[in-house]
Amino acid sequence: MTDRTEEPSPTPAPDAADPSSTDGPPARAARRPPKAAGATSEAAPATDGRSGPGKATRRRGSGARKRSPATDADHVHDVLVVGAGPGGSSCAYWLADAGWDVAVVEKKRFPREKTCGDGLTPRAVRQLADMGLEPALAGAHRYVGLRSVGFGRSLEMRWPQHPAFPSYGYTVTRHDLDGLVAERAAKAGATVWQGVEAVAPLLDRPVADPAGPERPVPADRAAALPICHGAVVADRATGTTREVRARYVVVADGSNSRFGRSLGASRRRDYPLGMALRGYFRSERHDDAFIESHLDIRDESGEVVPGYGWIFPLGDGRVNVGVGLLSSDQRWRGVNTTRLMDAFVRWAPRSWGIAPETSCGPPTGGKLPMGLAVSPHAGPNTVLVGDAGGSINPFNGEGIAYGYETGRLAAWALGEALAGGGHDAVADYGERLVHAYSDYFRVARAFVRLISNPRTMRACVSLGMRSEVLMTELLTIMANLMRPDTLGAAELAYRAMTVIAEHLPDPSRSDRGDALGA
Ligand SMILES: Cc1cc2nc3c(=O)[nH]c(=O)nc-3n(C[C@H](O)[C@H](O)[C@H](O)COP(=O)(O)OP(=O)(O)OC[C@H]3O[C@@H](n4cnc5c(N)ncnc54)[C@H](O)[C@@H]3O)c2cc1C
Repeated sequence: MTDRTEEPSPTPAPDAADPSSTDGPPARAARRPPKAAGATSEAAPATDGRSGPGKATRRRGSGARKRSPATDADHVHDVLVVGAGPGGSSCAYWLADAGWDVAVVEKKRFPREKTCGDGLTPRAVRQLADMGLEPALAGAHRYVGLRSVGFGRSLEMRWPQHPAFPSYGYTVTRHDLDGLVAERAAKAGATVWQGVEAVAPLLDRPVADPAGPERPVPADRAAALPICHGAVVADRATGTTREVRARYVVVADGSNSRFGRSLGASRRRDYPLGMALRGYFRSERHDDAFIESHLDIRDESGEVVPGYGWIFPLGDGRVNVGVGLLSSDQRWRGVNTTRLMDAFVRWAPRSWGIAPETSCGPPTGGKLPMGLAVSPHAGPNTVLVGDAGGSINPFNGEGIAYGYETGRLAAWALGEALAGGGHDAVADYGERLVHAYSDYFRVARAFVRLISNPRTMRACVSLGMRSEVLMTELLTIMANLMRPDTLGAAELAYRAMTVIAEHLPDPSRSDRGDALGA
């Protein structure tokens, strides 16, 4: 069993508005013994010059004994991470990099297919760069901005200049990307078990009232969540099960989050939920310098729907084509996304060469829980990150960056908890999320409610498409790339949106009682 550390590290907390702003969580103290659990690869000493306080002196890797959990059922990890998507792998990387004993279970084996648009915005690139992974993206397709198409017009907008984020993005398939980040976590010292599924939490007591995925929750539920000692995990190849024990557990199992539900987390149905479908197509424009979004996709009756179609060039002979729909409003719940996708394929500009004949396979889809819709984000010793916490940006459906960022914020809180802060430090994670995102997501949710009305949607898009300046500022807002150091047009427009959002009814102000009710 791992021992406790008396003194918290003095490392400053990350700036919540820009979770990229610090290296990582408090480091495991140098006087502690080297980590006992074997990493899937030995950790290299930090050589990137970004070491935070305490990091330079810590010992990791060397002398660590390779440990098989099958024979060490009594071992208690500092942290167990369930799921190695963007949220789980980033959290594991930052914790392992700080010297903590982290185990990750991922039910699939990398590389694996993952339904996604494969678009990385500057926010996501920043996080990958901070994990030392930008060189690994050298072969990926780099793009410079967004082309918006709608109502017969087309506008090209470059990513803005920003002090914290690059002015470019990448497209890279999740098939290739997710294994890279998981491997990075392993190299930092995390133990990553692939093909291993967490099938049930180890709880100190049964969940008294296991909330269904869509049930409202009582005000005191965060405090009422059970303590989780780890998970029963199953090797998917052999079917054998065993227990993996840990002091803290990170729920990073994606939008369906069965593990989170079994702890008592649930999604607010009054928050927006996206449904999206994507497929790959061969295209001569596979290396276009802009990703493209279509803002006037229509349902079968010809009605413009609240959502968009996209064509993201991948630079490898293919483009990722998809449609996303916001089902926040009752009237859109019946829309069939497969038919929407078929219509978009028929209707997309011919220059892309998108057609049934160039399809690389049938499209696949998934849910996008948005605006911090799932909660409570922190229990006594558990945290929800990424889609498991409903962290997708309601403005644009982006979730990869928010997976990386919330994973990093959770790593910070758990580092504090492990360094002596205990359960209070875990609870702090909920506060950090509120501080980092809740104002922005409230504005985004208000925006979503507005555009759920077809008339407003049509009016907004057709007005926006008349002005490149307006759309460029809107892109800055929707991609959460406002500058902290200037009050330009985007920042002013965002302030105006904040004031408008203040006057619109907001379900987050209803009597919910968890950290987000603030
Ligand atoms: C069609 C579509 C297009 C999208 N396009 C984009 C886009 O272009 N850009 C963008 O930023 N976002 C996009 N998103 C959103 C993005 O995919 C998610 O927000 C992101 O994947 C969230 O990361 P995560 O780590 O929280 O979850 P996931 O990426 O879902 O990772 C969860 C991981 O946990 C594993 N897992 C699940 N259960 C268990 C278990 N019990 N035990 C062990 N492992 C488990 C899964 O195998 C998976 O690897 C899109 C989503 C969809 C559906």
